[in-house]
Amino acid sequence: MTGEPSPPPNTATAGATAPSPPLADVDTVYLDLDGCVWFGDRLADDATALVDGLRTSGRRVGFLTNTSNAAPDQVAAKLRRLGIAATVDDVIMPIEALAAHPWLRARPRVWFLGPPQLRRAVAELTPIAATPDEAELLVLGRDPSMTYGDLADALQVLTRGARMLALNVDPRLPVEGGRMLPGTGAIAAALTHASGVVPEVVGKPAAVFFETALRRFGASAGRAVIVGDTLDADIAGGLSVGMRTVLVGAASPSARDPAPVPHHHVRVLADVGGLFGL
Ligand SMILES: [Mg+2]
Repeated sequence: MTGEPSPPPNTATAGATAPSPPLADVDTVYLDLDGCVWFGDRLADDATALVDGLRTSGRRVGFLTNTSNAAPDQVAAKLRRLGIAATVDDVIMPIEALAAHPWLRARPRVWFLGPPQLRRAVAELTPIAATPDEAELLVLGRDPSMTYGDLADALQVLTRGARMLALNVDPRLPVEGGRMLPGTGAIAAALTHASGVVPEVVGKPAAVFFETALRRFGASAGRAVIVGDTLDADIAGGLSVGMRTVLVGAASPSARDPAPVPHHHVRVLADVGGLFGL
């Protein structure tokens, strides 16, 4: 793909005819999870080997996920259950970026539409309103047990003039067997259609979210890469802060014009190692 030029070949070690792998100089690797490292409860082929190889080569690996229906310790536990060593420090999620969002600075009473495990985390940041009529802000995640009544309550918050903060606006969530689930963005779109209120995004592609990830690891954007399956979340966000970008799999449709262009495009996650010379 187009993008920044490859570093010059290292003739001292690689010989005059062998160019360096394009990501040889990258020391920090952020991997997207849904549709990239895993599909529901199934790990992508060779994902464990890729993470092990990157770590063995001295690189820091982080998991930069838009997941809005689990807490960071649950995401780290799922990685370990599927065979990838990870602690909560390796996982960067929108719920953490929410804590730093300026709209939460005044500790508004929020209405939260999302799963119970995230409600607790939100309640530690700002008061949860007892009724939609008391709420000053809507915070939106993805709750698989959401009902029409929950949607109606969220709409009530917005029609009273509150703003909407979405943990992400991903339209869909890839799971096992090529199936898709409606994402947080699909729920946000329903509320936008009904209210006219457009959400502000906390997670990918928000630049502040990528900056949070870089700060966490003390990394510089010029030597970091984001690897993901979504043009409008992973690639757009990475490009906005000056990271290298790798798109994995069939390009998802982009709602942007022009569509973001990744530096590299590989067919499957297992092909990413080659970009590092692994
Ligand atoms: Mg993804």
